[in-house]
Amino acid sequence: MKERSPEDIIAQTLTRHRLRQTPVRLGVLRALREAPYALSGHEVEELLGTGTDRITLYRTLRSFEEKGLIHRVIDASDIVRYASCSMACTEHMHADNHVHFKCTRCAHIYCLNQIAIPAVTLPASFQAVQRDYLLSGVCGECQ
Ligand SMILES: [Zn+2]
Ligand SMILES: [Zn+2]
Repeated sequence: MKERSPEDIIAQTLTRHRLRQTPVRLGVLRALREAPYALSGHEVEELLGTGTDRITLYRTLRSFEEKGLIHRVIDASDIVRYASCSMACTEHMHADNHVHFKCTRCAHIYCLNQIAIPAVTLPASFQAVQRDYLLSGVCGECQ
């Protein structure tokens, strides 16, 4: 059986989420899948190069997030970063409940996909809607 190329996987991911293949969609998904850490909208824009329409780019990021292709990575700064989701995420359920790690030297934020956010028991009257779990320290590259 033929091995699926990264390009096949990117194209199939769009199809699975009922999104037509466009150069911007393919480019955004490729950039986020290939990056070892989460990227800001500006960083994605730089990777796609000049000639990419900004409005289309940000609309693509928003629709990818809504449909479960990518997720937001949040830290104390105002910069919103994005990372590609695991295969398990859908429009209705973001299965991504992993820990994020921010390196204080290179400032990159990594998805630690294999480390689940620990269960937290809330007081009876509290209901959580979002879970962001960010650790900081020094990443493997900077050690
Ligand atoms: Zn680092
Ligand atoms: Zn993540």
